[in-house]
Amino acid sequence: MAAATTDVRHTVARVDLDALRGNVRALRSLLEEGALASGRPVPAIIAVVKANAYGHGAASVGSALEASGVAMLACADVDEGVVLREAGIAAPILVFGALGISDLDGIFSHRLTPTISSPWAGRALADAAAARGTVLGCHVKIDTGMNRLGLRHDNLRRTLPAILAAPSLRVDALYTHFATADEPESELFGLQQQQFVAAREVAADLGLRTTHVHAANSAALLRDERVWFDAVRPGLLLYGIVPPPLMTTLQLEPALSLHSRIVAVKGVRDGEGAGYGQVFRAAGPRTLAVVPAGYADGVDWRLGNRGVVLVRGRRVPIVGRVSMDMLSIDVTGLDVSPGDEVVLLGRQGDQRIDVREVAATIGTIPWELLCRLGARIQREYCHRP
Ligand SMILES: *Cc1c(COP(=O)(O)O)cnc(C)c1O
Repeated sequence: MAAATTDVRHTVARVDLDALRGNVRALRSLLEEGALASGRPVPAIIAVVKANAYGHGAASVGSALEASGVAMLACADVDEGVVLREAGIAAPILVFGALGISDLDGIFSHRLTPTISSPWAGRALADAAAARGTVLGCHVKIDTGMNRLGLRHDNLRRTLPAILAAPSLRVDALYTHFATADEPESELFGLQQQQFVAAREVAADLGLRTTHVHAANSAALLRDERVWFDAVRPGLLLYGIVPPPLMTTLQLEPALSLHSRIVAVKGVRDGEGAGYGQVFRAAGPRTLAVVPAGYADGVDWRLGNRGVVLVRGRRVPIVGRVSMDMLSIDVTGLDVSPGDEVVLLGRQGDQRIDVREVAATIGTIPWELLCRLGARIQREYCHRP
């Protein structure tokens, strides 16, 4: 039997590193203008690259962000931090997530900045640093109402002293995270701010000398300059997407686009179905084209009979169910052939499909769609000509 030849895969995600850098610049000028107007120092940018940089590829994106001068990168866990270090990134790396025993070595061997979000983590890190004879810089997370990770804001007099007293720990920053920054109606956003400001005062009263504090994700930094503090922590905005339902006049551009090619074209007769469950029925003779991108690639199954793609500069519907490895589109009346480009996310001609639109079509959020982009999709990194 002859060995199968593997062709270059037809579906690729293109990541435009210039767009990414442009987004950093746009964000930085917003921060500079706001700071200038209020007479406060310009906040630093902690660029969030968790979940493989929101599906864009942590190594390349992390390096591009470092080169564009962000102060720090942030990831979800120690393994993600190790990937960034192995890509040659030298910038400080904050690990957001809760630590396990098995993570402690990685913190030291890869010079990561851990988050202390529980008394246990404080003790474990203090002991591990003491055993290595070093002083470990860390950030302490305060839970101001999300009720997920972090030291409770109203319990700091009990939990913080042991952390501050540990000679092997140096608390470089305090931070919190907002639960409802993207909900304009929410009262919790204001309450969390107040509780965070009060928590800082308690920390200062307990002897914490650091002044570094950060709180704002993309939505919070767009909404309210008062939460910029010393640094902001954007994720989604860096990738060129505004958290729904917010709007902005910032010049942002989606960094990622998803492209494929038609691999087959065929006619179906009036009344015939296509694909699993035959949930599409041709009303009259139709021309369908097959695109080699399916839910295993991260094209959501719920886009069956609902989504659209771009072909020859037109929006054409996805018909029938999305399969694991392919989907069908209705190209009736368009002169298409195998090899023609299909855009699932991004621009073609003067048409564009963005991830907010796709998320809205199926009732999910842009974050989920981006970070589910499949591992078998090749990422191509480009600079614009
Ligand atoms: C993911 C995350 C962010 C970035 O969120 P965006 O909404 O993508 O800007 C900021 N801070 C923390 C703690 C996070 O987990």
